[in-house]
Amino acid sequence: MRAPRCRTEDFFGPAVKAYREFIGRERTLILYNGSELIVIADTGGIGMIITPEDFLLSCECGREHKVSIKRIVIERNCLPALPAHLAELGISGKICGVYDSNTYAAAGKLRPQTDYDIVLPSINLHADERAVKQLTDSMPPDVKVLVAVGGGTIHDITRYSAAQKGICFVSAPTAASVDGFASSVAAMTWKGFKVTMPAAAPVLILADISIISQAPAYLSVSGVGDILGKYICLADWKIAGILTGEYYCDGIARLMEKAVNEVRDCCEGLKRGDSEAFVKLTYGLILSGIAMQLSGNSRPASGAEHHISHFIEMGIVGSSDALHGEKVGVGTLICAKRYHELGAKQAVKAKRPSHFPLTGEYLQPVYGSMTKGVLDENRHDVLADVDPTVLEEKWPEIAGIISKIPAYEQLLEILQSISARTTLADIGISETKYETILEYSPYMRARLTLLRVSKMLE
Ligand SMILES: [Zn+2]
Ligand SMILES: [Zn+2]
Repeated sequence: MRAPRCRTEDFFGPAVKAYREFIGRERTLILYNGSELIVIADTGGIGMIITPEDFLLSCECGREHKVSIKRIVIERNCLPALPAHLAELGISGKICGVYDSNTYAAAGKLRPQTDYDIVLPSINLHADERAVKQLTDSMPPDVKVLVAVGGGTIHDITRYSAAQKGICFVSAPTAASVDGFASSVAAMTWKGFKVTMPAAAPVLILADISIISQAPAYLSVSGVGDILGKYICLADWKIAGILTGEYYCDGIARLMEKAVNEVRDCCEGLKRGDSEAFVKLTYGLILSGIAMQLSGNSRPASGAEHHISHFIEMGIVGSSDALHGEKVGVGTLICAKRYHELGAKQAVKAKRPSHFPLTGEYLQPVYGSMTKGVLDENRHDVLADVDPTVLEEKWPEIAGIISKIPAYEQLLEILQSISARTTLADIGISETKYETILEYSPYMRARLTLLRVSKMLE
């Protein structure tokens, strides 16, 4: 039976009620994308609906978007219902829960019924070859479903192992700390190098708000930082589309923006521990993984602010113990300030930058032994795709996009309101590195961002 049609704009509107009535189950929402059902449940009161069919079937961008995730549940006490959800999705076979010692304790009574559980020691646990071996060695051969119950690290170890074994992967986040839950790649450290490896996307996400809302506050604070970063990357994506004709989907961007605005407005609720606020944050984090699936790349979730975070992670400008989202939060503030300075220009003069094409000589003093890797990444300098005349002509349009990014002061206030770390010094990096970060971080990825484009401005 075909579910009634729902538009994105109806997010929290009458459609929620209609869906409840349609399926007759309190607090559960279903979307039909033409071939499969996407189920979203909530904690009562507020509904969370992902991409409606007009999105997935015939988007105005001309592409047919696809999501491989079959079901997403964001609800209090939903984790024990794991076997029922799997059965409803037609997934059978032995289930193995994967925890670290902290999340095993945190899940407590809510731990789902599984055939096996593997608990990896929390201390010094990293998404690396050692942890993957630990998991796969202790995994019985008949396991058909691996369930990651934990944060980003447990997810990466488990989703990578599931792909290696060719079995189903289920995501059960225990904190709203990072946006990788719905991802189909794993951020691993392999033989000492940070690499992104192909991994399994979850067939099912069970986000248990009773566990997530009890996680240490700094974890959700980090999640907020990761989400606020979307203001920057969505602007970068749109600007790249204007300047080079790179694929851009306004539908995905609007969906993401709406979720980001919800998170921006729910920080008070997070402080109070409101379930509803945690639902919104968790939804935003999951959606950003889905948006990446819809667009087929990480454009909707990662731009100049993430390049700053990656740059800091390389250890080039000192070492930071900050979580991913904390670094992204600081990167977001740095970009917001710079972007609004640029946006204040009425008109610009553009030319090829002085370091174009990139040379080892220019990179070496900062990147050192990593210079070759950075040059390889930028074998095609993305600024080659930007015509200086087009940049000058399109500037008013670009300034318009920048004006939609919340002001630096506003973002700072939001992050300060949840006691987030907001400066380089806060995350252990010297403020003297500010300009180096602005100048060199755009080379972390061969991706056009406004920060990179700004090198062409006189
Ligand atoms: Zn589209
Ligand atoms: Zn991120």
